[in-house]
Amino acid sequence: MKKVLLILFLCASTILSAQQKEGRQHLQKLASPEMYGRGYVNNGIKIAEKYIISCFKNYGIQAFDYFDGYTQDVTYTVNTFPDQLSLTIDNVELTPGKDFLIDAISAGGSGSLKCTPFSNKDLQDICSGLNTKELKEKYKSKYTKNCLIFDETDSTFTKKQKEKINEWISVDLVWGGLYSIGGIIKITDEKLTQNIAGVSGNTPYFIVSKQTIKNIPKAINFSATQKLDTVTAKNIYGYVPGKDSTKKAIVFTAHYDHIGMTGQKTIFPGANDNASGTAMLLTLAKHYSENQPEQDIIFVALCGEELGLKGSKAAVADFPLELEDIDFLINIDLVGTGEDGICVVNGKIFTKEFEILEKINNEHSYFSKIKVRGEACNSDHCPFYQKNVPSFYLYTMGGTQAYHDIYDTADQLPLTKFNEYFNLITEFVTYKSK
Ligand SMILES: [Zn+2]
Repeated sequence: MKKVLLILFLCASTILSAQQKEGRQHLQKLASPEMYGRGYVNNGIKIAEKYIISCFKNYGIQAFDYFDGYTQDVTYTVNTFPDQLSLTIDNVELTPGKDFLIDAISAGGSGSLKCTPFSNKDLQDICSGLNTKELKEKYKSKYTKNCLIFDETDSTFTKKQKEKINEWISVDLVWGGLYSIGGIIKITDEKLTQNIAGVSGNTPYFIVSKQTIKNIPKAINFSATQKLDTVTAKNIYGYVPGKDSTKKAIVFTAHYDHIGMTGQKTIFPGANDNASGTAMLLTLAKHYSENQPEQDIIFVALCGEELGLKGSKAAVADFPLELEDIDFLINIDLVGTGEDGICVVNGKIFTKEFEILEKINNEHSYFSKIKVRGEACNSDHCPFYQKNVPSFYLYTMGGTQAYHDIYDTADQLPLTKFNEYFNLITEFVTYKSK
């Protein structure tokens, strides 16, 4: 008897580790340099798309007749930095990704500029209600064609003032438009976090780590190739038909796009965000292709998340079935850790389903904690939820702090609770199917 139990236990743990192993393989592939960070420079997102489609094919995942093959076109604009990217401050060349970032809405350009620190006094002047013409006269000679330095670590700025300046810089009207500023350097002591945008401003704009800069810069030299591109990326759909065709469908979503590259040397691999979730989606697709579920299960790998949920917005606008025929949707994004548990967005909204998750977790102790949240439009479940699709977004908590940076690599991502996450949601589906 003991022997049988032992064998059963060994079998169970072999199955468990098989999922993590499989997830790891997808993760290594999706976050590898050959995918260029699954963005738009070198068309990394296209390489990721092909990989996901080849997996769906291998698993025998069905395509919807509704689309031509597995994919749906999604068109949007992207501000890219496809070639040159360099910044030298006071004759010291900085390393992109590590010492500095180019802001998502930055313009391109090149040249040498003298630096002008943006002082607290200047800010107060601008806040004091001078009209733009007077301001222009006053500050034209100071800022025009110079590099404006905004030292966010300067303690003479209040928190409110810093927020205000950041807001102005991001709008880019005052700086680029009013004074024809040559460039902007923001010095920060915060972690460098790269984003991606669908618009571009008028001014080259760099964010530099305080650790890199000993003194307030006097002069910079820079070169940045920038291009505002219109791209057509793809949402990728597949499904496994359930045993009971009268039941509504379960949908899993995970975005596979990421930031990509800035310049030709700096890759943002996006291992946790969201190669991890895509790896989970593919692992689930394989599992259900081998174990027919009760109800239809739909897998959607989404594009354009990093540009403002473009893929999921396109999905709800033209979904292959009526949105009311979705029983429940689970969005999978950032699932590479789990030391501190998981968080369930919409857990406070769909309380019956949240209780199911808690019950399963209490039985098996998969996670040390399940944190419940209300609604939050922070990932791809949101456009579905806004169209009344019952949905959760589950992300793991704790572990690595790498996020939207060059350090979010597959090698440092532990996939701590990958099996547990897999078990939790597959058991959840079993519950829902009863
Ligand atoms: Zn992201």
